[in-house]
Amino acid sequence: MIKDAVNLEQDSILHSDVCIIGTGAAGLTLAKELMGSGQSVLLMESGGLVPEASVDKLKLGQLEGDGFTFRPGYLSTSRMRFFGGTTNIWEGVCLPMEKIDFEAREWMPNSGWPISLSDLEEYYARASDYIGIHRHGDPYPENRQPNSIKVLPADDDWDQFIFHMTNKPRLGTRFKEEIEASRDIITYIQATAILFLENENGGHVEAVEFATLSGNRFRVKARRFVLAAGGIENSRILLNSNVETGSKLANRNDLLGRFFFDQLHMPLGKFVAPNPLDDHWLFFRTFSKALGYIKMGAIALKEDVQRKLRLSNQAFVFHPLSENQFKGDDKLIVDSFSALHETESVRRSSVNIAEPLMYAAKFKSEQGANPENRLTLTNEMDELGVRRLRLHWKISEEDKRMMGRFAELFADAVGRNFIGRVKFSFDELDVLPRYAGGHFHQLGGTRMSSNPTRGVVDENCRVHGTDNLYILGGSVFPSGGRTNPTMTIMALSIRLGELLKKEVVS
Ligand SMILES: Cc1cc2nc3c(=O)[nH]c(=O)nc-3n(C[C@H](O)[C@H](O)[C@H](O)COP(=O)(O)OP(=O)(O)OC[C@H]3O[C@@H](n4cnc5c(N)ncnc54)[C@H](O)[C@@H]3O)c2cc1C
Repeated sequence: MIKDAVNLEQDSILHSDVCIIGTGAAGLTLAKELMGSGQSVLLMESGGLVPEASVDKLKLGQLEGDGFTFRPGYLSTSRMRFFGGTTNIWEGVCLPMEKIDFEAREWMPNSGWPISLSDLEEYYARASDYIGIHRHGDPYPENRQPNSIKVLPADDDWDQFIFHMTNKPRLGTRFKEEIEASRDIITYIQATAILFLENENGGHVEAVEFATLSGNRFRVKARRFVLAAGGIENSRILLNSNVETGSKLANRNDLLGRFFFDQLHMPLGKFVAPNPLDDHWLFFRTFSKALGYIKMGAIALKEDVQRKLRLSNQAFVFHPLSENQFKGDDKLIVDSFSALHETESVRRSSVNIAEPLMYAAKFKSEQGANPENRLTLTNEMDELGVRRLRLHWKISEEDKRMMGRFAELFADAVGRNFIGRVKFSFDELDVLPRYAGGHFHQLGGTRMSSNPTRGVVDENCRVHGTDNLYILGGSVFPSGGRTNPTMTIMALSIRLGELLKKEVVS
């Protein structure tokens, strides 16, 4: 059942076993997991069933730091406030994170999760089914194995891998009918969480206060609360609760809002490849009619090489450019590369030369976790009386150095192996932040650690020092790797669903 909170009586109190705040990838996945569990669930959404300008204004805030000239709409256009959340506009690129992403690496300060890849593997498989994509690691039921197209030799330092993209990415549309029909779940739209209210001694959330833009205020009392309002709003609602109630909820060690990061998505330059168009197209980007999703190839350093060279986890993705996009210098590179390749192929006499192909190459890069990159509140209030946000975000010299090194290694590898030529779009790494702005993958702010002095939530996503408040979403990531985060967010949500169901049984 989906109800509109505008119709609730002023100061109503609603009750449930579980209250989930937010209907994005995290909130909807958890709600689906709890269906049929016998627990009553209130699923609370700030927006309606379609986007509305008045609700959208609630997410405006201030930006400080790098990359925002390139992406000035970082706080507003990168997050959607209506049923389905930001999955209403996401691209749907999915891949589990890698083993190394969960490890504490001394050259990546503050990295490492209290759980490992193996703790999430079964949940990744179930998340793939939810999104409707190929389970990572399963063989492809197609004649042509995309991974059999080797862009770089297998014995090199480089690895290649495939992202999957769902062709039905809007999770709100995908799940709405089922959620609406569920007898366990009541969804309230137009219900914005503004405050968490703790008990007198702290350690237990008694209620959450909600507001509607029509002026209604009401509370939800639940046995357990799950905050799933997106990577940025999770911190904001808790920071606002601290200021308004004087509590230290989720913030006993001044960590709330800190260690914010994104994945860096920036142009490297152009990459010219001489191999047949169809093979590279197949590896880099193909739509599989049989499977109903898109595959996208990427190239990265092997994990042991990353460890040896003490580099962050990064990858290159490529977007093919058509011949008429080659101009000036680009045309020269294409021509000189053709000549070079021809000599080499004649020598090897086995390579089938086709027209060279040019790609736009882009970094997908891990950003280091830095406590000074943070979300704080301003004194300006939104329409519901909640303080607006300030996001301070910078790319460190070390992030830039690692990206530069990675780019050099890649250019060297493709040249050395006669695979292609790279033309950088920048001379100095200092210009990188101008192109930055992140990937719209908002991570950190309520980071996970088993140690309460180093994290806001524990390994089960429960807020340290509380017995009934959990957080889901990118905000719990202590480090992010190079992989798009939503599949991991969904895997964590399914895992929390299992835990909440077990707690009820016991
Ligand atoms: C253009 C774009 C492309 C992207 N492409 C990809 C991709 O290809 N792959 C990938 O993995 N990720 C991608 N992402 C990121 C992806 O969308 C997010 O990782 C994902 O949606 C996060 O899920 P979530 O549930 O944590 O947050 P959201 O999906 O943002 O959901 C949060 C929900 O909480 C609600 N809410 C907010 N505040 C409150 C409040 N106070 N009270 C009640 N409800 C509230 C919101 O309205 C929303 O419904 C992309 C993002 C953008 C912007």
